[in-house]
Amino acid sequence: MPLTLPQLNAAALAEAAQMLDGLYEHSPWIAEQALKARPFRSLPQLKHAMAQVVAQADRDAQLALIRAHPELAGKAMMANSLTAESSNEQNKAGLTHCTPEEFAKIQQLNTAYNARFGFPFVLAVRGPRGLGLSKAEIIASFERRLDNHPDFERAECLRNIHRIAEIRLADKFGHTPELGNLIWDWSERLALHSDPGYAERGELTVTYLTDAHRACAQRLSHWMREDCGFDEVSIDAVGNVVGVYHGSDPGAKRLLTGSHYDTVRNGGKYDGRLGIFVPMACVRELHRQGRRLPYGFEVVGFAEEEGQRYKAVFLGSGALTGNFDMGWLEQKDADGVTMREAMVHAGLCIDDIARVQRDASKYLGFVEVHIEQGPVLNEIDLPLGIVTSINGSVRYVGEIVGMASHAGTTPMDRRRDAATAAAELALYVEKRGGSVPHLVATVGMLEVPNGSINVVPGRCRFSLDIRATTNEVRDACAADVRAELQRICEKRGVHFRLEETMRAAAAPSAPAWQQRWERAVDALGVPLYRMPSGAGHDAMKLHEVMPQAMLFVRGENAGISHNPLESTTSDDMQLAVEAFQQLLDNLATETP
Ligand SMILES: [Zn+2]
Repeated sequence: MPLTLPQLNAAALAEAAQMLDGLYEHSPWIAEQALKARPFRSLPQLKHAMAQVVAQADRDAQLALIRAHPELAGKAMMANSLTAESSNEQNKAGLTHCTPEEFAKIQQLNTAYNARFGFPFVLAVRGPRGLGLSKAEIIASFERRLDNHPDFERAECLRNIHRIAEIRLADKFGHTPELGNLIWDWSERLALHSDPGYAERGELTVTYLTDAHRACAQRLSHWMREDCGFDEVSIDAVGNVVGVYHGSDPGAKRLLTGSHYDTVRNGGKYDGRLGIFVPMACVRELHRQGRRLPYGFEVVGFAEEEGQRYKAVFLGSGALTGNFDMGWLEQKDADGVTMREAMVHAGLCIDDIARVQRDASKYLGFVEVHIEQGPVLNEIDLPLGIVTSINGSVRYVGEIVGMASHAGTTPMDRRRDAATAAAELALYVEKRGGSVPHLVATVGMLEVPNGSINVVPGRCRFSLDIRATTNEVRDACAADVRAELQRICEKRGVHFRLEETMRAAAAPSAPAWQQRWERAVDALGVPLYRMPSGAGHDAMKLHEVMPQAMLFVRGENAGISHNPLESTTSDDMQLAVEAFQQLLDNLATETP
């Protein structure tokens, strides 16, 4: 019989601790301390309480917890002396059936890892979907993590330990994240479509209107229609996939949601797509229950957000706000194919683009679920975050021009070195960016064109990216950086040019919609965490015409994104669906 939360809440402390026995390897103190916070409203609340106990423990206790774990495919496994839980996990990951080569490789990694960090490598080998990682995935993760900084790696072990506990807890409570698993499987299936040149390498790249891109649109439409029960499914004039689930009154205003299905080159499977799949799962459940909301629900898979094939970011969501720039049609991709040709080839009707624009008065607002694409939620052991604002940004490309001269014959006091001037600027940018909370400033590209080992750099090109929660903070930083650049160049006798290439206004969440997300997340027993979005999202476009608010979902691997390591767990995706369902239900009670 699986445990239930009321049982756990009602039991005497010793009995409750016994129920949670084995969640944390040889470390019952974690559950015992967390249980003092009973009653728990939900399993996520219990999990967070346990993670908090570990976070607040001293370093020695944390290390002892890590060291309580057996090595992967190590001596304890060979001697059959693992705990039942560890034995089950190593077995599920196939570690008990290693080839002699795999076994030797893992032993070598165990030794190297221990020598570097002084504790065993801990990995939740059941993986983000709970089914067990492959041995190749385990070895790759082992090798990758050997390069981490020791402080980061200690935290990463603890995060894996929490994930192990999460899976063990789910086993005890007979909890399966059915809808999270469904989204996991949809994500895997959709990721089978990838552009030529990348597909062969097993990399995911889906750029605007390629064969893979159009296949994704077909796949999404199919699932919306056949698996989820949307009433209307169509692909619009720019390639957006639009699914509508009517309210009890088909003429009622609609809630709009969605995100993008294109990807960056060699990107992740969840960036954008999660924000299409989560509401699709909600509609699937509504349809299965035969339920209608008092408002309509419109889910859009935006065709293009990343600006990879053509320099036209937010093309999909921009079409909804009337911001499709007809000038884009003549742009050519790297193979010389114009966007117009690509659209005609895809069977899209250019004459209909203007009709994609929505009448904002027919919508209640826009919400978007997105993977965080940053390390914050991962670091604080929280699955969901409430977005307060999408940061405003400004980008520049610049060049410092000094004088190229011989590295051997030019005395140090006679140089006009463009690269050291740029280096000074980069250090200033880092310092100025760190001076205000939620302001970030980055020199991402630095290049000495045609540089040579024996030449003092005469030119140095650089990029500058500044983002902040408000336009004022962003602009103040940009002004200071420009003034500093001026000062550095005067001091060094070099000159510069600086060209603004992009500017986007900050998009603060609409308070009422942010509160709806907060209420929804709180109902799940998940502690609220409010944060700005450092990255741009489709919601920025919709912000121009209707109220919007976003929900972030924790990413694994320190939140890495635009990278194949981008990941989340089916448990976190499940919570995103449940939060969205809460939001829909709450909205239903608000809407007359
Ligand atoms: Zn995205």
